[in-house]
Amino acid sequence: MPGTLIVFSAASGAGKTTLMNRVMPNFPNIVYSVSATTRKPRAGEIDGTHYFFKTEEEFKLMIEKNELVEWNKVHNNYYGTPKFFVEQKLAEGKDVIFDLDVFGKINFDKVYPQAIGILILPPSLEELEERLRLRKTETEESLKLRMENAKKEMNFAKTEGKYQYIIYNGDLEAAVIELEGIMVKYSSLKSSIHSGS
Ligand code: 5GP
Repeated sequence: MPGTLIVFSAASGAGKTTLMNRVMPNFPNIVYSVSATTRKPRAGEIDGTHYFFKTEEEFKLMIEKNELVEWNKVHNNYYGTPKFFVEQKLAEGKDVIFDLDVFGKINFDKVYPQAIGILILPPSLEELEERLRLRKTETEESLKLRMENAKKEMNFAKTEGKYQYIIYNGDLEAAVIELEGIMVKYSSLKSSIHSGS
């Protein structure tokens, strides 16, 4: 049986990483898709684990050689899903999780229309800005750009994004329960915590 493909999208600062780190360890058959990007590594990020870090030339070559399922330019950097990784993990019978921007997801759906889409949104734009400031990973300029993008993305996602699920991540514990419920439904190998219930 081929594994399940699950696409997550969120405005940065919506709490996606925290939420996923809480839920995913309970689902042993799931692997994260490792994207290629031209963004510079943040502290602690490892090449091949968090991203495949590429130069712009290398990334463009991947596009030319048709090595990506989808790609997009997000916040002035390129991000894309390498085909080999998805194909390899599906062949191993794994469920694969993708973290895509909302526009990338549209292209992804053309290749894998069976994928389940989950959109994670902050309770409000004000809350999103506050979280981004607290995270202290952005300059004032990049923060402004991320907020502009967040507005565009949220409008687009809610209309054309065609996500099966939208989780408003205001109360983390409530969001964890909601996401676990969805994952139990779709993951091909459920966690021991949930499989008996
Ligand atoms: P970050 O730089 O914070 O790791 O990611 C920024 C944005 O890039 C996020 O919105 C994330 O969803 C998106 N992203 C990460 N990998 C991919 C990918 O492979 N394809 C697309 N389209 N977007 C991606």
